[in-house]
Amino acid sequence: MNGLTELDGASKRRNASRHLRRTIQNDWAESIIMEDNISKIKERLDVVEVLSGYIKVQKAGMNYKARCPFHNEKTSSFYISPERQIWHCFGCQKGGDIFGFVKEIEGVEFPDALRILAQKAGIQLQHHELISNKDAKSVLFEISELATKFFEKQLRASRTGMQALKYLKERGLEENIIDEFRLGFAANDWEALSRFLKDRGYNESDIVGAGLAIKREGKPGVYDRFRSRIMFPIMDLNGRVVGFTGRVFEAEKPLVTKGEQPAKYINTPQTLIYDKSMVLYGLSKAKQAIRQNDKCLLVEGNMDALMSYQAGVANVVASSGTALTPNHLKILQRYTNNLDL
Ligand SMILES: [Zn+2]
Repeated sequence: MNGLTELDGASKRRNASRHLRRTIQNDWAESIIMEDNISKIKERLDVVEVLSGYIKVQKAGMNYKARCPFHNEKTSSFYISPERQIWHCFGCQKGGDIFGFVKEIEGVEFPDALRILAQKAGIQLQHHELISNKDAKSVLFEISELATKFFEKQLRASRTGMQALKYLKERGLEENIIDEFRLGFAANDWEALSRFLKDRGYNESDIVGAGLAIKREGKPGVYDRFRSRIMFPIMDLNGRVVGFTGRVFEAEKPLVTKGEQPAKYINTPQTLIYDKSMVLYGLSKAKQAIRQNDKCLLVEGNMDALMSYQAGVANVVASSGTALTPNHLKILQRYTNNLDL
């Protein structure tokens, strides 16, 4: 009896140490893969190219210079070295590589910077690299992306959606612009989107957190914020969907809560990933053209921006009816100082 117990103990210990060894080996292998991806990203992306996605850079001999985005300055003391693939500001002493820059300017931690740059470089990250940083924000990004796909499909597959599509075309929008800006349709339904997202494993509090649903009053459950609306996804500078503007489309009488007047436009409220004082509609598409033209055309409505873009004037953004904030101006100044209202 005693012997058997001892044997058990010994084999358990052996198993435990084998398990530990395997875990250490896995961690080690994972960190090798991560290192490998970091160097692959650095090989594929050029520091000047990455930074000029955010700030206006100018050639200066062997290097490039820019007005520092991290401190306020009139003359450029921010330098980029293509040869060494680094940047440095002689004004505020900040500096580093592309990862450091993205962390600083996006206000994110390393895992998010890794993800942003991997996407730019076309590198598929390993599962664990994604899982380890699946924080609250990334869940909201996922939900917003899924919702965009859902709305896009509704615009083409549902009866009312197709009426909305017809309306957009009658207003003069071409199919390729509707595709490129990922316009969609939210059905005249209390739960179509919430149900779709819950079926995919997202919980109600995250759907509410993404601004897409509203908690029912005095009883459990949530209902969709956007109903019977043409949906304009709002993207951040990297083209990730962070929120929506929904324009009412009254093919049927829209479902409303007691006493609610359906506003012509409604927007995603402030969320972890959406702050209306920081985002301009269309900027992720327009930023290159704004830099090339050294000018930004600001219009009020999303439709106006789309029509302008379609007509070949691509350096256009929309304020989506909200007042222009100092933050908006600061973001635009990364690309140009010339604003046409
Ligand atoms: Zn600086």
